[in-house]
Amino acid sequence: MSRISKTRVVVKVGTHVLSEQNRLSKTRMLNLVEFLVKLMDRYEVILVSSAAVAAGYSFLKLDKNRLHNRQAIAAIGQPQLIATYNKKLEKFGKIAAQLLLTADDFDSRKRTYHAKCTVDTLIKHGILPIINENDATATEELVFGDNDQLSARVAHYFDAKLLILLSDIDGYYDSDPNQNPNALIKKIVNKIDKEELEIQSETQFAFATGGIVTKLKSAEYLLKRGKEMFIASGFDLSDIKSYMLEDVHNGGTLFTNKKV
Ligand code: ADP
Repeated sequence: MSRISKTRVVVKVGTHVLSEQNRLSKTRMLNLVEFLVKLMDRYEVILVSSAAVAAGYSFLKLDKNRLHNRQAIAAIGQPQLIATYNKKLEKFGKIAAQLLLTADDFDSRKRTYHAKCTVDTLIKHGILPIINENDATATEELVFGDNDQLSARVAHYFDAKLLILLSDIDGYYDSDPNQNPNALIKKIVNKIDKEELEIQSETQFAFATGGIVTKLKSAEYLLKRGKEMFIASGFDLSDIKSYMLEDVHNGGTLFTNKKV
């Protein structure tokens, strides 16, 4: 039986987008799920979701400045996060599956192979795989990255063509738009300069640890491997909807090797 295979994409959503006042934002999660379900009609979709700490904090209000506290809060929040996704997905007749991975898993061919087979099987059966870092054993993304870099590895090793980063910012600018009101958005980026990877950017938000540099590192990693990355707003999904569902690039930044 032949089946026209769909393009595989990874969507990564940051803590900032998923949470509001120290807890999950149910409205934004519903909007996201609604978009993901539409995306699943047209593409094979893998979600990388942060926000386990935000989901757990209201249950155990420990000092988040301490790493072990954040790990414990994440352990509480992770099942809450997946339960919330499932509640929203249910409205559309879908369910989620959870995979907790670390960057080290991708150092092992055997572990990568098994994880990919799991993802392939889930997708084949219409289930949404949701990946997060295994925060109890790995702390890279919990400390710095907010899953930006993990999602780039997921995109590469699980054979996706594109990584979509849904962020608190609607694209990559020629300077930090929160500092410079005249910053201009870059619609297409073919190459990332060394200096750009060294910009010091501090995020203001207590739960978010990504920043633009980890996003650029992910873009560089993917461009080297012939993949694409798109940064768009996770607050207002209209740009990513038009790009992915209507093939119209209105807003957002596409990192690609293609000279357009
Ligand atoms: P998220 O939590 O959504 O993954 P972050 O808040 O960690 O994202 O990183 C995005 C932030 O990076 C933006 O809000 C912005 O203030 C900052 N930033 C710094 N330089 C740039 C730039 N050149 N273009 C876009 N954003 C930038």
